[in-house]
Amino acid sequence: MKPIYAFEDANSKNKMLLGGKGAGLSEMTGLKLPVPPGFTITTEVCNKYYENKKRLPKNLMVEVNKHISKIEKKTGKKWNSSTNPLLVSVRSGAAISMPGMMDTILNLGLNDQTVEALTKKTNNPRFTWDSYRRFIQLFGKVVFGIKDEKFDEILDGVKNTQGVEEDSDLNVESLQKIVQNYKNICEEHTKREFPTEPNEQLNLAIEAVFKSWMGDRAIKYRRENNITKDIANGTAVNVVTMVFGNMGDSSATGVVFTRNGHNGKREIEGEYLTNAQGEDVVAGVRTGKKFEEMKKEMPKSYKEVINACAKLEKHFREPQDIEFTIEQGKFYLLQTRKLKMTATALVKTSVDMVKEKLIDKKQALRRMPAQQLEALLHRTIDESQIKNYKQLAKGVAASPGAASGIAVFDVKRAIEIGETGKKVILIRKETKPEDVPAFFSSQGILTSLGGKASHAAIVSRGQGKPCIVGCDELKIDYSNQTSTANGITVKDGDIISIDGSTGNVYIGEVPTVESQVTEDFKTILLWAQKAKRLGIRANADTPDSAKLAREFGAQGIGLCRTERMFSEKNRTELFVEMIMAESLEQRGQLLKKLQELQKSDFVEILRAMEGYKVTIRLLDPPLHEFLPNPEELMNKIYKENDNSEKTKRVLDRARELSEVNPMMGHRGVRIGITYPEIYEMQMKAVFEATADLIKKKINAKPQIMIPQVGSIEELDHIKSIYDNVKLEMEKKYKIKFKINFGTMLEVVRACLTSNELANTAEFFSFGTNDLTQGVFSFSREDVEGKFLPEYMDKEILETSPFQSIDENGVGNLMEIAISRGRKIKNNLEIGICGEHGGDPNSIKFCHNADVSYVSASPHRIPIAIVAAAQAAINKK
Ligand code: PEP
Ligand code: MG
Repeated sequence: MKPIYAFEDANSKNKMLLGGKGAGLSEMTGLKLPVPPGFTITTEVCNKYYENKKRLPKNLMVEVNKHISKIEKKTGKKWNSSTNPLLVSVRSGAAISMPGMMDTILNLGLNDQTVEALTKKTNNPRFTWDSYRRFIQLFGKVVFGIKDEKFDEILDGVKNTQGVEEDSDLNVESLQKIVQNYKNICEEHTKREFPTEPNEQLNLAIEAVFKSWMGDRAIKYRRENNITKDIANGTAVNVVTMVFGNMGDSSATGVVFTRNGHNGKREIEGEYLTNAQGEDVVAGVRTGKKFEEMKKEMPKSYKEVINACAKLEKHFREPQDIEFTIEQGKFYLLQTRKLKMTATALVKTSVDMVKEKLIDKKQALRRMPAQQLEALLHRTIDESQIKNYKQLAKGVAASPGAASGIAVFDVKRAIEIGETGKKVILIRKETKPEDVPAFFSSQGILTSLGGKASHAAIVSRGQGKPCIVGCDELKIDYSNQTSTANGITVKDGDIISIDGSTGNVYIGEVPTVESQVTEDFKTILLWAQKAKRLGIRANADTPDSAKLAREFGAQGIGLCRTERMFSEKNRTELFVEMIMAESLEQRGQLLKKLQELQKSDFVEILRAMEGYKVTIRLLDPPLHEFLPNPEELMNKIYKENDNSEKTKRVLDRARELSEVNPMMGHRGVRIGITYPEIYEMQMKAVFEATADLIKKKINAKPQIMIPQVGSIEELDHIKSIYDNVKLEMEKKYKIKFKINFGTMLEVVRACLTSNELANTAEFFSFGTNDLTQGVFSFSREDVEGKFLPEYMDKEILETSPFQSIDENGVGNLMEIAISRGRKIKNNLEIGICGEHGGDPNSIKFCHNADVSYVSASPHRIPIAIVAAAQAAINKK
């Protein structure tokens, strides 16, 4: 591969090699649009630079010089000339745009000789000396790492001496003084003369741009935006002939968007500044004028911008974000890139562009970043107001949407306050099933521990409530009912806001914006439904969430976690009593009551999903999770002097049931085997609910699923309970039930022996939360708040395997399980119901692995539908 391409010679489709900016410049050059001549040093060179222990390839500067000579020929200007000097800008640009994260240097090529030459040529010493001082500052900052403040001190000092306030009022003498002092700063810092040779300047600048790829800002940005190596690997360097928007009043510089990036409307938006350089607009040093004003002020240029907008949008078939410069009346394009849009704008532009015949429906779906769609279904933080609020901390964004309320640290108190109608944000170190009643009374949940697959995260997503987990900078002190982060302490009763889409926690009540399910959004979902192959089901445990999921387009429930039904306020106590029962008989009576409650829930859920399959999973968590933890009980006994027999009994039972590794402990099928009466009760509730509905001619389609199965012996053991229950129910109701019996695949051994399980199971569903935990031996509750961020910093993992399926490990195991299972039953229904079911990358994997359906929490259904459509379209 060549290390450098002139804009006119590059393959502008190759963004990975040229970066977005380089590709855009070369594409525009190919379209015969007025782009200043230049060339791109490829991202491959950047990677070589790093492989080579941060040294530029040997021959690079020889190649660079050849290209500079080409530019000289095209422009008639000359490097280091004393009459007509060539100046260039050196700009970074990766395959994915990372605005402001990497470095750029303007006016390179200036020195004491070329500044004089340019002065003579333009007869505008104020412009040339102003450019020179900007160059030294930028070069000093980017190449030598000198802080802006040092330069600003000098600038302010000279402004004071001359008695002016604005930079633009500085006279030539002052600017010359600044240049000299700026050079002195650089020389003091580097202990060498300021480089005057343009070649050396360029060499250093190229290296500095490559370095900025691994700068802290850039690394953080990539991590937060999930920019992995397969979508952007290194930065390119673009060397572009300088054109000047600061050559007087017939010069200008500006930025325009071909559509409104906020709401998607078809209107050109933008700003410009006369007599200014591009950075002034971008950095907001001066406030720009509205683009519309240009119509009067510079009508010819205005038309040229409008024409360029139309041409570029038509060519790229995407709204564009365009940078332009007008140098003494002559119009130049400096950059074009895909406009960054809100989810609302993406939806609207997709539908509009199909109407305008600019793109087809497939492309309309392909261009949607599915992940962003979830934001439309929730209230979101009002971005325009955010600057007025102080950020307290940042955690893992676990369930999107924004909420404000008073901080409450105690579960009971959250319920009490919630019931009075006040808004509550529940703050806990972590949550357990027994805390769920407080979720219902809270607007949002914030925990200092846990990751995306933790209890708090999953329950919140199921309820569509904003949630932040793993906020480990927040130190929670239960005894004083406070939490502290970054020197700020929040007490019980203080108002805070949480943004579950970003993980940010704010002090005070930040205004929010309504959710936006527009007609256009519905249109997109309709197109996606038609294009996808994968089935889409919901993880839903209540009638309300089942209804919501159906409204969003779910066709069935892939996971109904029955334990949630025991977590509702008036039921926990009953369930705890059942756990505490001292005889089978006593437990039997309590289970009867629970059966009635469970049956009534199933009736409602099955009714809401009439006609679609509803997979009901029997009890999964360890029983002690329903009891208060021993520490709290001890506190009650010793601090609050609670001497009641009941508390002591609960403590004894909690201790008896407690485990060192509960997630690998007495849970799932292991409960079914040791407490068969519990599973039997749940199965009966399913059959009875179905019988009720059949009588009412409602097409209920439940299926029963067993969690944590690792062997055929376990599954067969439960199957015999199921068979007995079925027999009993068929006799009782005189109905032939068709209720499928299946298993989760969430234990490694189950995946490896799926050929055995398939003999008994009528369906499989991957529980990728537990499966990931098992395959990595990572605790799903802990890792995301503990070592995972460092793993990502050190590039040991690119993304959390709890968020996106780890294809090489977990994915591989899934493929083995699918192939072994389908060898026994070739049409076996195999779904996925872990949190990955709502993640676009994992959905793509599932499509390719021939999974039957994905199941996601209700608010992620639209993401899943669009991602499934994209997977289908892209595979064809
Ligand atoms: C899973 O393990 O992926 C799963 C869906 O079950 P749970 O998250 O309830 O353990
Ligand atoms: Mg599980």
